Amino acid sequence: MARRLTGELRCVSCGYELRGLSIREACPECGVPVRATLLGVVDPRAEELEPLIAPGVVAHGLKLWSVGALVACLCVWGLRIDETVTFVTGHGLKLDVFGLIGAGALALSGVGALVLLRPHRLVTRWSAMRAALGVSAYVPMVLIYWAIYRGFDVASPAPLISPGAQRLDRSLLRLAMLACVAIAIWGLRPHAIMLAMRSVIVRTGRVDRQSMYALLAVFLVAGVGDALNVGGVLMGGLLGDLLTQLHVVLVALGSVLVTLGMVNIVIDTVRLGPVLRHRGVGLSDVFETNRARERRSGV
Ligand SMILES: [Zn+2]
Repeated sequence: MARRLTGELRCVSCGYELRGLSIREACPECGVPVRATLLGVVDPRAEELEPLIAPGVVAHGLKLWSVGALVACLCVWGLRIDETVTFVTGHGLKLDVFGLIGAGALALSGVGALVLLRPHRLVTRWSAMRAALGVSAYVPMVLIYWAIYRGFDVASPAPLISPGAQRLDRSLLRLAMLACVAIAIWGLRPHAIMLAMRSVIVRTGRVDRQSMYALLAVFLVAGVGDALNVGGVLMGGLLGDLLTQLHVVLVALGSVLVTLGMVNIVIDTVRLGPVLRHRGVGLSDVFETNRARERRSGV
């Protein structure tokens, strides 16, 4: 560390210009140690304030990432609503195009996730590799989504109300998709949190930092449902039927919670947009305070 302050640094207490002083000295005006000012101004989590390589691209990419995933999720609701309407009225809404839209939206979500690979230059190789693993999980995820919602659900369009002979395969595929989702969340979360930490709102706790693991937890609720279905189909009999019924309840509950969790993440990423486009929020906040103090004292 340089012994003398070469850059502009104003005393955290009184605003006196400390340039040229040693870090061991105290402010000549008010006696507050220079080190106290350094601790107050220099953010210990500097990597979170490192300028983004492309702030606008990151802000839009994050929105594409979260909105794409939400649309893919809503399309499944579209399919199930179609299933219910068909069951009740006997006339389908012919909404199977939702499987197509959903797979496309999920692929776009994966494209958006690319901005999480290396948002700024201080990203370590390990964390970039972890994010890359998270993005690559999208490839099998989209293929499985396609297989379930364009394959099985078009061939046998009432998987919940009257599951066909392939219900075992379908549940196994859903479990495979859950594994992809888990890898994507595990891989992408560190950089997503790092970006979210840039927001003063997050630092003061007004944005939920746990929303991604909470999302994974509710995905697991649906996953347990599918596992019960696999067990139920294999077992057969009365217990098997019971497990299959329980599966419908857990998948329905999990689906509602997953959708709510995704809406939350979309809100977070939209709110984060302006924060990301603004370079170095934390530091500029400090400088603003200093400038305001300057103005007050009539300098
Ligand atoms: Zn001072």
